[in-house]
Amino acid sequence: MNFKTIIEPFRIKMVEPLRMTTPKDRKEILEKAHYNLFLIKAKDILIDLLTDSGTGAMSARQWAKMIEGDESYAGCESYYELEEVVKDLTGIKHIFPTHQGRASERILFQIVGGPETIIPNNTHFDTTRANIEYTKAEALDLVIEEGKDPQSDHPFKGNMDLVKLEKLFKENEGKNNIPLCLLTITNNSGGGQPVSLKNIKETKELCEKFKIPFFLDACRFAENAYFIKIREPGQSDRSVKEICQEIFSYADGFTFSAKKDAIVNIGGLLAVNNDELAGKIQNLEILTEGYPTYGGLAGRDLAAMAQGLREVVEEDYLEYRIKSTNYLGQKLLEIGIPLLTPIGGHAVYVDAKSYLSHIPPEQFPGQALACELYLEGGIRSVEIGSFMFGKNDDAGNFIASSMELLRLAIPRRVYTQSHIDFVIEVFERVHAKKDKIRGVKIVEEPPFLRHFSSKLALT
Ligand SMILES: *Cc1c(COP(=O)(O)O)cnc(C)c1O
Repeated sequence: MNFKTIIEPFRIKMVEPLRMTTPKDRKEILEKAHYNLFLIKAKDILIDLLTDSGTGAMSARQWAKMIEGDESYAGCESYYELEEVVKDLTGIKHIFPTHQGRASERILFQIVGGPETIIPNNTHFDTTRANIEYTKAEALDLVIEEGKDPQSDHPFKGNMDLVKLEKLFKENEGKNNIPLCLLTITNNSGGGQPVSLKNIKETKELCEKFKIPFFLDACRFAENAYFIKIREPGQSDRSVKEICQEIFSYADGFTFSAKKDAIVNIGGLLAVNNDELAGKIQNLEILTEGYPTYGGLAGRDLAAMAQGLREVVEEDYLEYRIKSTNYLGQKLLEIGIPLLTPIGGHAVYVDAKSYLSHIPPEQFPGQALACELYLEGGIRSVEIGSFMFGKNDDAGNFIASSMELLRLAIPRRVYTQSHIDFVIEVFERVHAKKDKIRGVKIVEEPPFLRHFSSKLALT
């Protein structure tokens, strides 16, 4: 629709109240949480933009499907419904539900990974990398150079660098040490940037030439397909579903977190064409997730996932989804806030290093901004920078992350345009006093994944 106002393509029939807090409340809450937003109770947050994972709102039809969920241990009807929807969309032969994306990754890489093996990807998501490295395999990132430049306006910054991929394949020819090649759509760790249909096809062709199976990390396949429709020459007249079907027609298998583009609160999928691999997956799945027709989920979860996968390729939904994320980004750019561009599908990333240039990386400018947004308007965002990824070398010297970002992830179908306008207004207020924002320092940290539980203080 060609209107200025973004209209949410749904109306609301069930509401969840939000709790207002005062600036004084928030100051106390933040101090008690030691300036770490993970340590704040969700009830004390007004607008929660921590993640788009598992935070979406299900439709009335999904809830209705949950009531119909078949809870039989083996062969439940909800599994067959899910299988039918996934096969229609992807054409992949063997479909295994799992409790979430990382469970699919664990099963897959436990089978194909191991010492001396290499798994290339555009950019591995952190759980993917961790599951690969846990088997002592190497997780290699081969995204195009534009994908690493925050200001490049390339329309498909998630593309695989095919020159580098071919070089890797050639160097390892005959060694049998690349069990598969992954491609993450959209490229989450690279700012939610899409991969073009052309690049997906060419990656597949290159894999085929070297006889390497081609897999997708398909968490945001529908958002990626919508970007293809609106940005890639020759694609605008096709339906998103058709584009999705073409994308998956190139894949020999995929991993999937249903907490993203299946708009459910929990669940995942692992799907493969190869019969022998499917047999191994089935055995491991029974051992650790559950019988293959439920895979660690309730029948009702499978039913809701099947319905979510029907809804996520609806174009009214995707238009609203991509436009509303873009709306937030454009308004922040107008205020003068530097962002990672083009604006991705599921989140807006603020370049906190250039925005708060008076705060050095060792005082975590992204985290400082996250705290300020909470104090000003009860907004929760997440730092993706030196607080999350920075470390100290053996001599105790600080090593910064390559970027200092603040991510505002947008849950699916949860917030309205006025909620987003409120977020923009909070940014305007923060902007007016940005030079007074103080950095933070760590006062207590755990041995790993420190961003979840470290305690911080103002510098
Ligand atoms: C979320 C995500 C995963 C992991 O899925 P979980 O359901 O959180 O375990 C893997 N890859 C990508 C790209 C993701 O965004």
